[in-house]
Amino acid sequence: MKLDALPIEFQGAMPILRELQGAGYEAYYVGGSVRDILLNKPIHDVDIATSAFPAEIKQLFRRTIDVGIQHGTVMVVTKDATYEVTTFRTESTYQDFRRPDHVEFVRSLKEDLKRRDFTINALAVGIDGEVIDLFDGLSDLRSRKLRAVGNPYERFHEDALRMMRGLRFISQLGFTLEPETFEAIREYHSLLAKISVERINVEFVKLLMGSSRQAGVKTFVESECYIYCPGLSNYGEALLRFADLIGPAIPTEKQAWTLLISMLGLKQDQIKSFMKEWKCSNQLIKDVSQMVPALAFRLSHEWDNWNLYQVGRELAVSVEYLLIYFGKKPNQAKIRLMYQNLPIHNLKDLAIKGNDLIQQFDYPKGPWINQVLRGMEREVIEKNLPNEQEALLNFAQNFMEEEPHG
Ligand code: ATP
Ligand code: MG
Repeated sequence: MKLDALPIEFQGAMPILRELQGAGYEAYYVGGSVRDILLNKPIHDVDIATSAFPAEIKQLFRRTIDVGIQHGTVMVVTKDATYEVTTFRTESTYQDFRRPDHVEFVRSLKEDLKRRDFTINALAVGIDGEVIDLFDGLSDLRSRKLRAVGNPYERFHEDALRMMRGLRFISQLGFTLEPETFEAIREYHSLLAKISVERINVEFVKLLMGSSRQAGVKTFVESECYIYCPGLSNYGEALLRFADLIGPAIPTEKQAWTLLISMLGLKQDQIKSFMKEWKCSNQLIKDVSQMVPALAFRLSHEWDNWNLYQVGRELAVSVEYLLIYFGKKPNQAKIRLMYQNLPIHNLKDLAIKGNDLIQQFDYPKGPWINQVLRGMEREVIEKNLPNEQEALLNFAQNFMEEEPHG
């Protein structure tokens, strides 16, 4: 099979492939971008594979960066873009079902394609547009099947992460696992325990965010892979309930974790430890810890000024969107407007500052200042009090009388 025209992204990399070929090496487009072109999907990174060894690649191009030279990857910098160029390699020795402990550079494209995970990811395209299909990846693309390259048991035994990759491709592409590939995953699911959480996390998030999330998450449960993922071993049923939510692909990672955790029914104090186990970033944990209770609230109430103010505009709009998955209609424009109309957006917007209070009451600095400011903040947000100096000072006066500062 031959591509009619190379996509624009491939054309940009063409001078690199030509240069390599001109010097007598082989060079091809490979990996996910080839798969995605053939599926008419947008592509992100263009990967180039070559028979040239890393030192040979570096000799040919003026500007290169050693991104992963021990794995054979050199980044070639052109004036418009940068491309990863990787030497054909085999991954000979695998220890502990993880990534290979060393790679061997080879001159044969076939050897390189053989070590790839699924047949649809083991296609290569030459500069003439010819698709090189040594493992019937084209036929699997047509029948929308995920089939391991070679013996699936051996391949998952070599690198158990491939099982999670298979599950996320179900979710992203809407493909199904070829039966033997599925059986191998089911049999070897416990090998996931050997894989680092960071690597599983990347695939898991893609699994949650794919447009065929339902099928992907169901297979994640059926294959029992979930049992060896952080914090999920007791949540098979809840994961199936998550899978049953109807709605489009979840747009952001924050929303994906929020929806998942809401369906797992984790309590507020469990959210942080769950996400820590998954090695999520502190910022993500912080956001999701606010979004989960906000979603629970929103499912039974309208937003009020105080909730909106506390959650903040961006997170509130994200939470509002999630109503879709519960058969309700989000109104994000309304949230934005409501937020815009809040009397203040921040404690600093109050017409009174801590120093004003010190002057007014002539007390030394202390926790009382924050208590008064927080009291004003809520009254102003709830529109019980205008954000004006005189009214605020009056409020402070009463507040101090009712709650002596000690
Ligand atoms: P995406 O579109 O999400 O980037 P991808 O298939 O390109 O998907 P990458 O992680 O970018 O995924 O990997 C590029 C290619 O490298 C894959 O298409 C596959 O051929 C190969 N590959 C990646 N990870 C593995 C693995 N664990 N085992 C075998 N081959 C792999
Ligand atoms: Mg890729």
